[in-house]
Amino acid sequence: MPEPVSNKERESAMRSHRPAVLLIYTGGTIGMVKNEETGALENFNFDRLIEEVPELRRFDYRISTYTFNPPIDSSDMSIDHWAKLVRIINFNYNFFDGFVILHGTDTMSYTASALSFMLENLGKPVILTGSQLPIGMLRTDGKENLITAIEIAAAKRQDGSPMVPEVCIYFKDKLLRGNRTTKIHADRFNAFRSFNYPPLATVGINIEYNESLIRRPDTDKSFKVHLLVDPNVTVLTLFPGITQSLVHSVLHIPGLRAVVLRTFGAGNAPQLAWFKQELKEAADRGILFVNITQCQAGSVQMGLYETSLPLIEAGVVSGYDSTPECAITKLMFLIGHNLPIEEVRMLMNSNLRGEITK
Ligand code: ASP
Repeated sequence: MPEPVSNKERESAMRSHRPAVLLIYTGGTIGMVKNEETGALENFNFDRLIEEVPELRRFDYRISTYTFNPPIDSSDMSIDHWAKLVRIINFNYNFFDGFVILHGTDTMSYTASALSFMLENLGKPVILTGSQLPIGMLRTDGKENLITAIEIAAAKRQDGSPMVPEVCIYFKDKLLRGNRTTKIHADRFNAFRSFNYPPLATVGINIEYNESLIRRPDTDKSFKVHLLVDPNVTVLTLFPGITQSLVHSVLHIPGLRAVVLRTFGAGNAPQLAWFKQELKEAADRGILFVNITQCQAGSVQMGLYETSLPLIEAGVVSGYDSTPECAITKLMFLIGHNLPIEEVRMLMNSNLRGEITK
């Protein structure tokens, strides 16, 4: 495990009366520059990022940095990178007031969701941000996103406790609970939405925190990290005309342990006999199904329509109003712990990190 920042720096961050923030640069558009020969966007050195945002030096904070080497496009984000982020945060947890993760936007919601589960009873802000335009470009959205994310990571309440001790995404004027987010736009600055939970803060001239919506750690318990994540999950999106051979093949993927079923409307599925049979057989083989809706907003309500009854019979668990990103990473996290399937079902049904409305 590489040491993100020197012991000397960490200790002086801890002794300092100024807020200390650790900025972790994983890659993504925010830190990219155009290769003049090929015209393609490539990652550049993090030192250049500081050069591009001299405003960072004006903060009365101690800002330490850690850069992924090499930085990655977030399409290459993996469960190993998540574990690396968790290790970095854990290793530096007592030395900093908050953490900002610069991340490509494409898979930022997956990482934010995964980290929310892997960092249990989190007592400090972990704010992910990035940008749609590289930070070196004139019209970049990266500067505002970065500067405000740092301010949020350092923000305190009157009693001195962190304002937002949660894994969040800050993007274009909104602070959103990470495991509630979805990337909704490929080229607008307003790239993220949280359809089923209001913003934790909105940003204009002031940063207005919705304090009653922010989760706080249980003071009787300590911060705990989890590194085990099992990627043997898949997503099966239903559509009219879906064939048995497709469903059969998906449910026979070697090693498969859990399926996020993206159903219609309030959680409905075809009533075809073969469909019920495939599900039932897979469930008998120990595969766990979680039902989420293909709609962007709203919740699954199993049992509301007759068309969801076969799912109940096959033991499918409701994913409530979970995003796909959250349902997948929650399953990866839970099955990574090798718990008995009944416990995984019970925990899927529980609101662990503010990820579902129950
Ligand atoms: N492809 C980039 C990434 O996700 C896009 C971005 O950063 O916005 O890494």
